[in-house]
Amino acid sequence: MAGSTHTVTNQAPPLTGYDVFTADRALTEAVERHLAPRLRTEALAELSGLGRGCGSLQTQEWGARANDNPPVLRTHDRYGHRVDEVDFHPAWHRLLGKGVSAGLTDAWSRPGGHVRRAAGFLMWTQVDAGNCCPLSMTHAAVPALRTDPDLAAEWEPRLTSRVYDRELRPAHLKAGALFGMGMTEKQGGSDVRANTTSARPLAEDGTYELTGHKWFCSAPMSDGFLVLARAPGGLTCFLVPRVLADGTRNVFLIQRLKDKLGNRSNASAEVEFAGTWARRVGEEGRGVPTIIDMVAATRLDCVLGSAGLMRQAVTQAVHHCAYREAFGGKLVDKPLMRNVLADLALESEAATTPALRLAAAYDAAQAGDEGERALLRLVVPAAKYWVTKRCAPVAVEAAECLGGNGYVEESGLPRLVRESPLNSIWEGAGNVQALDVLRALGREPQALDAYLTEVGRARGADHRLDGAIRGLLTELADLEAAEGRARRLVERLALVFQGALLVRYAPPEVADAFCASRLGGDGGAAFGTLPPTLDLASVVERARPVA
Ligand SMILES: Cc1cc2nc3c(=O)[nH]c(=O)nc-3n(C[C@H](O)[C@H](O)[C@H](O)COP(=O)(O)OP(=O)(O)OC[C@H]3O[C@@H](n4cnc5c(N)ncnc54)[C@H](O)[C@@H]3O)c2cc1C
Repeated sequence: MAGSTHTVTNQAPPLTGYDVFTADRALTEAVERHLAPRLRTEALAELSGLGRGCGSLQTQEWGARANDNPPVLRTHDRYGHRVDEVDFHPAWHRLLGKGVSAGLTDAWSRPGGHVRRAAGFLMWTQVDAGNCCPLSMTHAAVPALRTDPDLAAEWEPRLTSRVYDRELRPAHLKAGALFGMGMTEKQGGSDVRANTTSARPLAEDGTYELTGHKWFCSAPMSDGFLVLARAPGGLTCFLVPRVLADGTRNVFLIQRLKDKLGNRSNASAEVEFAGTWARRVGEEGRGVPTIIDMVAATRLDCVLGSAGLMRQAVTQAVHHCAYREAFGGKLVDKPLMRNVLADLALESEAATTPALRLAAAYDAAQAGDEGERALLRLVVPAAKYWVTKRCAPVAVEAAECLGGNGYVEESGLPRLVRESPLNSIWEGAGNVQALDVLRALGREPQALDAYLTEVGRARGADHRLDGAIRGLLTELADLEAAEGRARRLVERLALVFQGALLVRYAPPEVADAFCASRLGGDGGAAFGTLPPTLDLASVVERARPVA
């Protein structure tokens, strides 16, 4: 072409126009495994439709635009009236509309609903993690609201609706609604006993008036929030609607939006309550037990979210290396790069497989399976600890696979890197998860029984897994003074759980590489240190997205 100095060669084509679902073999196999045969055909078709949406150029661009144009707080209107509105880029609304209509807030109302939603959520995170925050909280609010049948009757159909209705109106006028949560205050987040927001009863009917603040309150444009505050009988859970039944605005003062490392499409606010109307959820003094079901569900979403981010990072890395040539050959065929990609792919599959297993446990627990409920009690915090911890190193290493391109915004990798630490922080940071696992071990013996039953199903299949189970049992035999070694213990619980699932369900080359490096001690601290004699080419090929 006239005026050009060179021809562009050896750049990978953009990865677009592909089906994020069918391209992810670990995910599709997990969905097939965990859904009853009568549900499979329809669910796979639905997820493939969503997968094509996630991989489309249009949706990818919405994700980029929503992050390039973060929300803006508008505290007052032009006349000085307080309005407390947050303005979002149109791309944010498009994404949220798609996410709601895809059923990402609705796991509770259909058989296999948790598995189906989990697969969708894992894919949707790859488009934009920010809008997954309100989707997650809306989905997770349902079990907490069910402690109060009247509130559940009013809100549940709206929270699980497929309609994104963004107008702030009273609940009875809304076709769909979003929820957030407010627990964290300035003086304490993990230790919610330090909450100072107070609740004064207005009448005998469970209505109260709140005074105080929340230091973090994400998705502040939501229709309602589950909030912890101190009532006369102790820490209590409340529903705070944005709009009151008569159509007037509740007092919900948005003071600032946080300037965050990542998750930039989403708004995270500091809010204040001053005579704010609230309705009690559950009994006075039972705030933590009431809201804990919501927290457990969002913790699983942290696992799914990290699995999604890792999958997207690995997808981009493998795709790039399948095209890029250096020193006379494709990067993907260079033994050392193959080792790095295989190691990353292992981490991704080892996140996806347990995440979907836990979603299946939710479906079973909802149908009354107490063993699965007990399994969730132990493994959700363990997986929240470990899977979310792996996300940042995976994202950073995957970006390096793209060389300099991976450090440049338009590759999408920097956004993944910025997003990657967050799931380990919110909904209880790493130490808090590890301590919660200790609590489950100490107080709920049925949780450990359920865990040992599950990993025991893989016994005898791999000597390194068997050895790791024996080592774990030795560690578990003495939980005296375990607090200082809780991370180490929880890491092992999680690794054994991952290994047990991969040995049963993943192809032999994946299970073999995982057991060798993560359980058998034959791997280094950095990625790319797998034993080179293993079938790493097959591990990488399995992770490769097909456009
Ligand atoms: C982007 C973003 C959005 C958020 N959105 C919301 C929201 O919508 N609603 C909401 O309620 N909160 C929200 N949060 C808050 C988040 O849940 C808290 O930040 C988190 O739970 C940690 O609480 P903290 O910040 O008060 O830290 P702290 O509780 O002070 O903890 C600091 C560190 O100490 C560790 N730690 C705490 N206790 C112990 C212990 N006993 N032993 C050892 N270590 C310990 C923690 O693991 C952590 O690493 C959000 C946070 C972020 C970053």
